[in-house]
Amino acid sequence: MLSVAQAQEIILQAARPLPPQTLALAPAAVGLVLAEDVVSDIDSPPFDKALMDGYAVRTTDLPEGRGELAIIEEVTAGRLPTREVGPGQATRIMTGAPLPAGADAVIPVERTRLLEGERVRVEDRPPRPGVNILRLGAEMRRGQAVLKAGCVLRPQEIGILASVGRTEARLIPPPVVAIIATGDEIVEASQAPGPGQIRNSNGHMLAAQVHRAGAIQMPPAIARDTEVHLRANIRQGLTADVLLLSGGVSAGKLDLVPKVLQDLGVEAKFHKVEMKPGKPLFFGVRPRDGTVPTLVFGLPGNPVSTFVGFELFVRPALRALCGMAEPMPRVVQAELAEDFPYRTDRTTYHPAALTTDARGWRVQLVPWFGSPDLLGLTRANALAVLPVGDHQHRAGRCLPVLCLD
Ligand code: AMP
Ligand code: MG
Repeated sequence: MLSVAQAQEIILQAARPLPPQTLALAPAAVGLVLAEDVVSDIDSPPFDKALMDGYAVRTTDLPEGRGELAIIEEVTAGRLPTREVGPGQATRIMTGAPLPAGADAVIPVERTRLLEGERVRVEDRPPRPGVNILRLGAEMRRGQAVLKAGCVLRPQEIGILASVGRTEARLIPPPVVAIIATGDEIVEASQAPGPGQIRNSNGHMLAAQVHRAGAIQMPPAIARDTEVHLRANIRQGLTADVLLLSGGVSAGKLDLVPKVLQDLGVEAKFHKVEMKPGKPLFFGVRPRDGTVPTLVFGLPGNPVSTFVGFELFVRPALRALCGMAEPMPRVVQAELAEDFPYRTDRTTYHPAALTTDARGWRVQLVPWFGSPDLLGLTRANALAVLPVGDHQHRAGRCLPVLCLD
């Protein structure tokens, strides 16, 4: 049976970045990966710029930092100075305004006192030339590469793109994900379950996980455990970049998903992973004309297995499709807060509460009744990785812990 790391490796081999598109640099572009180098079309600032409200002065007039100067004009942001500052003179200037010729420093208004007759008294430390001024081109020069392909857009990158005049850019688009919950027992969350029925928690949870991973979900579907119904839903789902199925992948009588996938041309890459929860986990690829193949994940139906399978395998795949250089989940070494004797025959991803303080990461395992216990998972923000065997896991020892939030 494949280890988690081997299974992840196979998935990342198959998950290549989606072809770039020209997209608007709207707020929704946050988290997308830039697919071009971007060059500035301007010098910024475009002139020597005042960084404070105050007075543009000649430092040679204020060797001791004190003195009286004649105010010759006032320049606000968006206006241009018309007069050169001569000996004994100052220009009243606002933050963002261009520095007048002749001046080489700005004295903050708080260090001055306005006198009668358009004069100002300066009471400051001796100013150094250039103080409170941002020189022309200090931030960027025209023709300079400001952002490189591969960078993940955050609000500050979107701001820089706007300052170099870009309203759109070549970006790797977010993957589109189809979600199908399978099972004769599944009813919509809005319905009261009849005897033997359960609500579709997985469909909603997966949609939320897809959203959190920065991908786009198609409207989730519920498919019955018949080949005909599964086939119709899966055929539709195979138009997406990624198809997620929950349930129907293990060895039960109605676990028809792998067979129907195979019938519809999905090439199976693996069908089992050495882990708990969620050993039966299907991964395959289906070629598509003119673009990257659809990645297909059959996640086991128990909600915590579905959740963990998504975080370990689907999320890295989505991040790789998005062009992220580091698609894998974050794992930290955390100190166990309490003794936790635990026996398992498969590597176990156990719901855990991870905290950090001055001493580093600390982890506490939360009460949990296994793969159907989704409520237990709501008390967790991490998954502690527990090794195979019968272990005492004493307080103070370090465990690898996968961060979820
Ligand atoms: P399966 O993998 O199809 O054998 O499903 C295993 C168990 O997971 C089922 O008995 C259900 O209790 C549960 N399950 C399957 N699908 C869902 C779903 N969409 N929402 C919540 N629980 C589910
Ligand atoms: Mg089922």
